[in-house]
Amino acid sequence: MTDSMATYKVRRGFSFESAHQLPEHPTCSVIHGHSYRGEIEISAGKLSSNGFVIDFGVLKDITAPYDHAKILTQTAEELAAEIGTSVLRQMEGQDNRSHLISVRVILWETANACAEWEWHVQDK
Ligand SMILES: [Zn+2]
Repeated sequence: MTDSMATYKVRRGFSFESAHQLPEHPTCSVIHGHSYRGEIEISAGKLSSNGFVIDFGVLKDITAPYDHAKILTQTAEELAAEIGTSVLRQMEGQDNRSHLISVRVILWETANACAEWEWHVQDK
């Protein structure tokens, strides 16, 4: 007999305009802007008691504060990790947290360059 498991997966796209500056970088130390866009993907083996992997509104609230808000000083990799870590923090309050399988963030900084961050449950 083969073991099987259903997986629920949700994705939410996001975009924000923000100022960017990497103080130590030879070219990015000059303040400039990016039209960031990306996607958050979350997989879980079970829904919360109210029927969600995670509420899409929660994901919207995680990325909304980046829009026109501040000068970002992180690299795309660091920013993707920050967004992903915020998703994990939000999942802590949900009753399906123990069934979380993965959180993935893809963040496009320019039309041609993106960073990806992924967390996934350890194999037991
Ligand atoms: Zn930049």
